[in-house]
Formats: sequence, C-alpha cells, structure tokens
Amino acid sequence: MELDRALREIHREVTPHLGEGRVATYIPALARVDPRRFGMAVATIDGETHVVGEANASFSIQSISKVFTLTLALQQVGSRLWSRVGREPSGTPFNSLVQLEYERGVPRNPFINAGALVVTDVLLFCWGREEALGHILGLIREVAADGHVAVDPEVARSEKASGHRNVALANLIHSFGRFRSDVDEILDLYFHQCAIAMGCAQLARSALFLAAGGRDPGSGRRVISRRRARRINSLMLTCGHYDASGDFAFRVGLPGKSGVGGGILAVAPGRLAAAVWSPALNPQGSSLVGTLALEKLAAKTGLSVF
Ligand code: GLN
Repeated sequence: MELDRALREIHREVTPHLGEGRVATYIPALARVDPRRFGMAVATIDGETHVVGEANASFSIQSISKVFTLTLALQQVGSRLWSRVGREPSGTPFNSLVQLEYERGVPRNPFINAGALVVTDVLLFCWGREEALGHILGLIREVAADGHVAVDPEVARSEKASGHRNVALANLIHSFGRFRSDVDEILDLYFHQCAIAMGCAQLARSALFLAAGGRDPGSGRRVISRRRARRINSLMLTCGHYDASGDFAFRVGLPGKSGVGGGILAVAPGRLAAAVWSPALNPQGSSLVGTLALEKLAAKTGLSVF
C-alpha cells in the first residue's frame, strides 16, 4: 500500500486509543506531557519522507539514544565491547537490578539501562564528558540531517534529581569493578543522552543508515560497517523493548527501539525507517499506541524481516 495512505489510515485507526496507557511519571518532566499526542514519520532509503500527525513535534528520545551510543561504542572499541555487555534478551524490566547481581555486573544487553550505562562508560573513557556528548549529538545531527537536535536541559535535570534506580544500577556495576570512569560522570552523561529531543521526521531519517547497510543514504557516508549495522538491527529485534521484545517482534516483525518518552524507532532493512511518538506507555514502558501504529504499518505494507 502507498505510504501516505497507510499513514493516514493508521492515524485514523489509532485515534480512539490515544490516551490509553500511562505516561512515565518517575521522570517528573515527562509526567507533564499530554498523553493524547501522536506523530509518525517514515523515511525511505531513496530519500522520501512521509508524515502524519505531529511528526515534527520534539519529544524526549530517552532510551532510543541507546541505538546511537551503541553505534559510537562499536565504532570506537569494536567487538571488545562484548566482553563487558552481553547480547541476550533480558526478559526483565529496563531498570531491573536483579539479573545484574546474579551475572556479576555484566549486563545482558546494551539496550537495558545497565548495558547502556556500560556503553556510556566506554564513550566517557574514550573522550571525556564534553567530547563524548559532542560525539553523541554530532552523530545524531549528522544522520538526522538536522544540526539543531539538542539536549532538553530540563529533562536531564529532572531525571538526575529522580533517577534513583539508575544510581543503584551504576553503583552495583561499579561494585563489581566493571567501570573505568567515575560513576557520577557516567550517570550525568547517561541522563543527558536520554534527554536528547527531536521529532519523528528527524528520528526516522536518523535510522536510515541502519536500513541501508550502515551507510547514510543521504550523504553516502559510511557510519558503520554492513556487518555491524546488521548486528545492531538484530539486537533491536531481540532486546529493543526489554521484556516486551518478543511481543514487539511477534506483532510488528521489525527491529525497533522504544523510549519512555513515548517514541519508537523501527527499521525495515533495505527499505525504510519509521518513527512514532505517543507518550502513554504500556506496562513494559513502550508507547502503547506507538506499538499499535507500527503493527498496523507492518500489516498494511507487508514490511517484516521474517
Ligand atoms: N532515561 C530513562 C531511564 O533511564 C530511559 C529508560 C527508557 O527509555 N526505557 O530510566
């Protein structure tokens, strides 16, 4: 089906569900967002962008940032990363401490918070705080083709003031001697990367390198090797939605990554990238209507990696 029509239909079909689910309240700045908002964008590797709803409204990408920090860490240290973080789905919530204790500070995968904190430590150790944040923003601005993508300082401050579980996770990892940098600096950088804000149109554009074998189709620049792009996609498929990853693969059938700001990014290798935003979340912390919208996109277009 033609993409503009598919997006219009999806918007119409999900509208009665807007507001179902609950916005994240553990980060006070996110609790204030209207749960009924909705935007969606699809960017194709041949350069078209299709949008519906509030596709240019800026929102907090939160854990979707983990896709970009993983990309940077793989660029910097390559497969050495895998001695510090695993590649298995966790089956536990994104901020769970339980598994980390059993597995002695080696997080299951880079997309749960514990794994992302290790990835952040890698970037901090390579570059230091300012430069690392500059590289994260630099990569996102480049692949989004938008130099204005920025951190929302209020969201970063808000999470820093209330991020007790992340503080606990970081200290637990530190207690096993798994960090190289200072725990407070790791947390500060992590909260800032999570507080990056952008719209669906930019976000869909920013994942095209994962749909196009590691090369940004707009600039032609290779961001990461074809093999690593494939592997990031496979981790998004198996681990991108925490303990709802299996359900997302079942319903949508595409690699994806969600964030508690209500955004979800999905990649159809060889074809396109899609981003959706609707702030009310399912119990596992992914956008409820966003998941539904991507399920409908896959059904209407036949997109699937299977
Ligand atoms: N910043 C959030 C946190 O650490 C990110 C979690 C998410 O988006 N799932 O809790």
